[in-house]
Amino acid sequence: MTHLDGNAIGGLLNDVFGREATDASGRCRICGAENFVGALHVYRGAGVVVRCPTCHSVLMRFVESRDQVWVDLNGLLGSGLEPLRETRIHVVHSGQVVDGRAEP
Ligand SMILES: [Zn+2]
Repeated sequence: MTHLDGNAIGGLLNDVFGREATDASGRCRICGAENFVGALHVYRGAGVVVRCPTCHSVLMRFVESRDQVWVDLNGLLGSGLEPLRETRIHVVHSGQVVDGRAEP
């Protein structure tokens, strides 16, 4: 499966984080490799999956539906990236929506 790099989703990242994110650097939770977001491997399918270029673990996942976005950043450490606190953006952790805005 071919992949793009993080720059290919710069618009989506700007939308979710409210700032340029491709020049943020983050560490892989699994192998510890540190990379700029722009250098991460991006796979587009039903959603957007961002993988570590070193060990291919999933670092971030984005699922867009209409104007809503679900964001899972569990694999990425220390990036300093925080999704905007907006009702259209849902933060997911281990499959659970944890932003407190979703219905329980
Ligand atoms: Zn890794």
